Amino acid sequence: MTKPITIQDVKVITTQPAGSRLVIVKVITSEPGLYGLGCATFTQRWNAVVAALEKHLIPFALGRDVARIEEFWQMAMVHSYWRNGPVLNNAISGIDQALWDIKGKLANMPVYDLLGGKSREAAAVYTHADGRSPEEVTDNVKRFMEEGYRFIRIQMGGYGGRAQTMVKPEGAPDGAYYDPREYCRRMLKMMEHVRGEVGEEIELLHDIHERLQPIDAVRFAKDVEPINLFFLEDALAPEDIAWFRDMRAQCATRLAMGELFNSPHEWKLLIEEHLTDFLRMHVSQMGGITPARATALWANVYGVKTAWHGPGDTSPVGHAANLHLDLWAPNFGIQEWCRFPEHVYEMFPGLPEVRNGYLYPNDKPGLGIDIDEDLAAKYPCEDTIERWTQTRWPDGSPARP
Ligand code: MG
Repeated sequence: MTKPITIQDVKVITTQPAGSRLVIVKVITSEPGLYGLGCATFTQRWNAVVAALEKHLIPFALGRDVARIEEFWQMAMVHSYWRNGPVLNNAISGIDQALWDIKGKLANMPVYDLLGGKSREAAAVYTHADGRSPEEVTDNVKRFMEEGYRFIRIQMGGYGGRAQTMVKPEGAPDGAYYDPREYCRRMLKMMEHVRGEVGEEIELLHDIHERLQPIDAVRFAKDVEPINLFFLEDALAPEDIAWFRDMRAQCATRLAMGELFNSPHEWKLLIEEHLTDFLRMHVSQMGGITPARATALWANVYGVKTAWHGPGDTSPVGHAANLHLDLWAPNFGIQEWCRFPEHVYEMFPGLPEVRNGYLYPNDKPGLGIDIDEDLAAKYPCEDTIERWTQTRWPDGSPARP
């Protein structure tokens, strides 16, 4: 038997090239020059992920056989006894994705070939159009259509709809306020306007960002049914998922859910009762490629498609991992895309590119992406206290962001 290649060192690289604080894991092996990269980005609590890696998971990982990804993942998940949280799952994902990258480099195959090979040449993506008014949203949709995008998410005033007529009590603290009832009224009008302006053929999406009372979310899903969305995203909070049964019984609006999910406890009900049409977990948040692959196959049996979370707080390495899953999965639905600026492409050579609404891989082995560590060091993470997640109802009380 040949001597196994082992994990010799693990580096945690943090950088903030474009708004979000990113955590990248670099697994260095006993084979000279052979390393892999993984995404461990939990941007709001990045220091906690760094500590989980450096103090706990890296000592656990050192010396292990890089070939045994499944065994590593299963053991890492239970090694802390308490499991399934965003900090620990992201830490595990960093090493898990890096091990897939290494396995691909050893096999001289892209990761999509390790997973079972391509089902498609490229992944169709959706991007986000925002605006302060229905007219401005429409203008931005048309701009993206000219760039070749055929799937466009429409928001107005970010996620909250920036309530215009809200009356706050005296002494209400600062924060990102929104009024859920006004949101429903204004968003419906915005979507009707955009659909009227751009026609039936462009695919429109919308994200509620779990900001409504469950019964209002059910009503909203019914109200937007005539707009024929490609999907309505995060209509309910993870705590309220049983309400998807009521939503399904009331309308045929296509639903997507999952970016806040941590564990199979949360997506089991939605898959087995086909209460969603698309699962859109944040792949590093669920623990990496290993659980995403298993969940995609499980969902496929129930007719549920994938739509992995792909905002700016998924690192370029995480986006590469998403794309390999997309190219392989029989039940790929759509990929969210955040349009990285040019200097991020310099920092992450091999970062996938969009052409005419499709995200294309390169044919390099592994995840096909690298990091320029010197350039990454020029954009250190800032320790700021996040404001947009300090969200409030009109009376000033805390709300979900
Ligand atoms: Mg979302």
